Amino acid sequence: MADTMRAARFEAATRRLDVVDVPVPVPGPTEVLVRVEACGIGLSDVHLLEGTLPGPLPVVTPGHESAGTVARVGALVPGWVQGDRVLMAGGRNCGTCRWCVRGRFEECEAFEIVGFSFDGAWAQYVVVP
Ligand SMILES: [Zn+2]
Repeated sequence: MADTMRAARFEAATRRLDVVDVPVPVPGPTEVLVRVEACGIGLSDVHLLEGTLPGPLPVVTPGHESAGTVARVGALVPGWVQGDRVLMAGGRNCGTCRWCVRGRFEECEAFEIVGFSFDGAWAQYVVVP
């Protein structure tokens, strides 16, 4: 695997979207690296680029409707192996708020949307929980 990849990077201040070379992200112990094989353009992506739904990061890789193949697995990830084909969730819950500890992840008080709060899948690779 190469050390760099192509990614569409959106800069909020200029509202520019440029395809550039960036380092391939490294998954943490509870994350996997996925080789992106498809990623849609969601209406939220359009709103991000238009500026009507600003994200929290000055620069981010958009893309939250994606599918691909697991390329690397974090040391503590159970059940997934390199080569598994996956459809990725639209974000990640915190795991610690009053709703997450009750298993009501969809009501997480600190839910982070992929492509907004962390880099998404308009790239060759993406790291997901
Ligand atoms: Zn939570």
